[in-house]
Amino acid sequence: MQIQRFPTLGEWTEKKTNSFIEEKLVIRNPEELKSKIEKMISDGAKQTQIVTDFDQTISSFLSPATFSLFRMSELSPQDFKNKMQQYYDYYVPIEKDQSIKIDEKNKHMHEWYQKVSEAFHEAKFTKSLSCQILNTSHIYLRQLFEPFFNKCVEEHIPFHIVSGGLDRVINTILASIHDIDTYDEMTLHTNQMLFQDDILEKMEMLVTATTKAKILETSGIQFRNNTILLGDLPSDFYMTKFLNIPNQVSIGFLAQDHSYQLEEYKKLYDITIIGDPSFLVPLVLLSKVIGYPLSEECTQLFNSKNYDELRELF
Ligand SMILES: [Mg+2]
Repeated sequence: MQIQRFPTLGEWTEKKTNSFIEEKLVIRNPEELKSKIEKMISDGAKQTQIVTDFDQTISSFLSPATFSLFRMSELSPQDFKNKMQQYYDYYVPIEKDQSIKIDEKNKHMHEWYQKVSEAFHEAKFTKSLSCQILNTSHIYLRQLFEPFFNKCVEEHIPFHIVSGGLDRVINTILASIHDIDTYDEMTLHTNQMLFQDDILEKMEMLVTATTKAKILETSGIQFRNNTILLGDLPSDFYMTKFLNIPNQVSIGFLAQDHSYQLEEYKKLYDITIIGDPSFLVPLVLLSKVIGYPLSEECTQLFNSKNYDELRELF
């Protein structure tokens, strides 16, 4: 039997996609962005790759994180949910506390992940129950993510996902768009749900928000010269930090109610998109790079005044 590179939980039969919501763009340095875009377009598709987060980057802001599905689901055992909630309440403030040193924080994150792994092990989820948990969840894909992903597949654009989520949940979601086992250029760096005889045996906890910057550095991947980087947290910006990639256009998604964080995002991301953003901007950029015309619908959306400043840079 052929080994599945991206094992799933089953099928995401209840696939949901966010509707288009008006979004606002903030461009950090238009001149600099213009030259980055020009370089990316002139190098073309063969020198471009995607590096992206998953939770609330590929999924919308209204979506629970892939990890939280199990904590929040009515179908999970109550004892498991209580434990997960306790850990969540205790460790999330630590994760977000900027005053805690990174080594200290990593220690806490490691401790958290070990407790979570134990709780999952004790709960003995089956694959079909896990799949049902996904199908009854409120995970939504961002609007226009599907055409973006399909274009990457078609053009063999390397698609590297670095996520603190769960592999099988992410695979099941992406497999609803395309047969990802045949997408040779995709890599997924995340936590693994290991099943034995249909029972969840173990969680291999490999990625936390605080270790994300180190993951790709040791991956052995030959990186291309241009990156489109996508994330929804300041920490996502550092996913490519140690890779020495000459050119990168970074796009950060920011929820409206987090606008007090805008100053921080503006320091990092070339483009910050505020609201519950769609994939219109990444799709426009990708289309220019691969030389493929935008659909009528996307052209119309992109002609709105919200994109005036960005349009002028192409
Ligand atoms: Mg995220």
